[in-house]
Amino acid sequence: MKFPSHWSYTKENDNFNIFQVLSDKGSLEVDKSLVLCKGIVSYHVKKFVVPQILEFLLSLLASIAMLENVINVFDGLEVCGGVTVPNVNSKIVLQKLQQIEFNEGYEDSGVWRSYSCKHLLQPPSSKFPNAIKHTACKDCRYFKDTLRKKIWNLNQQKFGDQLLKCRKARKNALKTAARKSAALKRVKSELHELRAKASVPVNSKEAFDQYLLNMEPQEQMVIKAILKKSECQEKQGIRYDTEWLFQCLLLRVKSPKGYDHLRENGILPLPSHSTIQRLIRGIPGSFGLNDFSIDVIGRQNGCSQLLCTQPVARPAQM
Ligand SMILES: [Zn+2]
Repeated sequence: MKFPSHWSYTKENDNFNIFQVLSDKGSLEVDKSLVLCKGIVSYHVKKFVVPQILEFLLSLLASIAMLENVINVFDGLEVCGGVTVPNVNSKIVLQKLQQIEFNEGYEDSGVWRSYSCKHLLQPPSSKFPNAIKHTACKDCRYFKDTLRKKIWNLNQQKFGDQLLKCRKARKNALKTAARKSAALKRVKSELHELRAKASVPVNSKEAFDQYLLNMEPQEQMVIKAILKKSECQEKQGIRYDTEWLFQCLLLRVKSPKGYDHLRENGILPLPSHSTIQRLIRGIPGSFGLNDFSIDVIGRQNGCSQLLCTQPVARPAQM
């Protein structure tokens, strides 16, 4: 009978012990072995018994040729290396993990292994030569998923307090942000309304009257005088307010040159010299303007406005 290299056997009563010897870290160890007893064979990988469910390893042998064949197949099969645990953040987490009793698997000499581990890997499929080559069997790989979840939970516990604090801070920050956002929305809306109001042109009489009311009385008087002049088509038909006329008289008396300058350059709607003279002449029994008042002018003219027109034909004695 022909064995592959590193294979040998011993015989004890009816039992044939056929094994593969490998050098591991400087010492010789039995890696794979099979025990043959009266045509029935069981397979072992190190100390583990390979479950009798692998279709590529026969358990009943009827000839030497079959035995040689299964030894060759067994020799060529890759051994499941178990799985290692990723993302363990600290020794404490690893220790906790090692203390847990899993239903699915256990720790075995630095690796983790499923209780259902077959210890041997499926031979590569000839149909899919480029398929991913795993170093652990399917059951061990499933067990790795369980380990991953457990490690994630342990890592969470480790940072539990910190995480709780962060979550609380996040919740508060979100609340504050929501409040600020609502306030900002409100202010934006108000601003929008104010802008809309500010952009509305003053195009109605009511709006303009309101606009005037916000001014000082003296300013109102000047604006009204300017408007009256602009409304009047003919120069000789302007009706001035008595207060305005009074101010014009004062200006004329105080500064005739200034009066002329303002009038001739159209800076202010000032009555003509003849109108001023006519008004002065119309004030009875007084000289100068110290006693002059709006009431006097108003009484002289019987209304709050004066029609200041140039007389069409002046009598010679005036
Ligand atoms: Zn396995």
